[in-house]
Amino acid sequence: MNHVFGPVRSRRLGMSLGVDLVPWKTCSLDCAYCECGITTEKTSELKQWVDIQEVLSELDEFLKENKNINFVTLSGSGEPLLHSDAGKVIDFVRNNYPEIKTAILTNSTTLHIPGVIDSIMNAHLIMPSLDAVSEDVFIKLNRPADGITADMVIEGISLLVKQFRGEIRLEIFLADGINNTEAELSKLAETVKKLGIRNVQLNSLDRPGALPWVKPLSGKQLLEAAAYFENPEIITRNWNKSDTSTRQDNPLPIIISGLKRRPQTLQDIMAVTGFDEYDAEKIMELALRSGSVKTKLIDGTVFYTVE
Ligand code: SF4
Repeated sequence: MNHVFGPVRSRRLGMSLGVDLVPWKTCSLDCAYCECGITTEKTSELKQWVDIQEVLSELDEFLKENKNINFVTLSGSGEPLLHSDAGKVIDFVRNNYPEIKTAILTNSTTLHIPGVIDSIMNAHLIMPSLDAVSEDVFIKLNRPADGITADMVIEGISLLVKQFRGEIRLEIFLADGINNTEAELSKLAETVKKLGIRNVQLNSLDRPGALPWVKPLSGKQLLEAAAYFENPEIITRNWNKSDTSTRQDNPLPIIISGLKRRPQTLQDIMAVTGFDEYDAEKIMELALRSGSVKTKLIDGTVFYTVE
């Protein structure tokens, strides 16, 4: 199989079968953190990068024989929405395998182009990326093809939010010293709020990126970054296990800095810290006892707050 890969078991998507719609490594960005390596074909051209009939035949062949797939996901070694017929894959699955959901991982650089969002309206889940709002940070981290700007990416995501009826999860990749500065995180958080996006996923490096200067955030830095957003999910693997200092250090100052921004439920605190219910309850009990945190009931739900 040339275009279909996996399936892989993923916590978020269950059993997910990948579909690669561009030759390695064709992308409109050349992200310094890309785990697929340097972009060899940096382009913003939408076209039939691979034969779509070949893709659909491979997919059909696989799905006929394998009934345990939860998601077909357009992803792979480049930007799937550079393929002008990406939507045909979504429609094919919807029409022929209605029990399977479809997802698209996109770098958001083509969403502003008329017709692109229309073509993928039948997807169940779209996961657009937005790593930078400032053009200089965008250029440094995402290294776009000529003519692509951070504003274009934001405009595309804004159109997606307005038009798409399925689920949207926005992914933000954080690189130490590049886009985790207070200035950039504040701008990112403000933009996410303006866009009205509720699901934010924070990611950082799990494996070596394309360029050696990209460094992952530590667990503590991820928690600090998470405090800027409402209910973000930290999705980088084992971030709270590999960075043992985070588990051993008292995370309370970081929790409190988040609570100063807004009241949070225990579930919010669990999402931000990565703690399970037992640990989160324990630390909040200590905080309540010390008087640094209070609780209040809002619509029958307990919120932790800092006066
Ligand atoms: S958008 Fe994705 S595939 Fe393209 S360079 Fe960035 S990380 Fe790699």
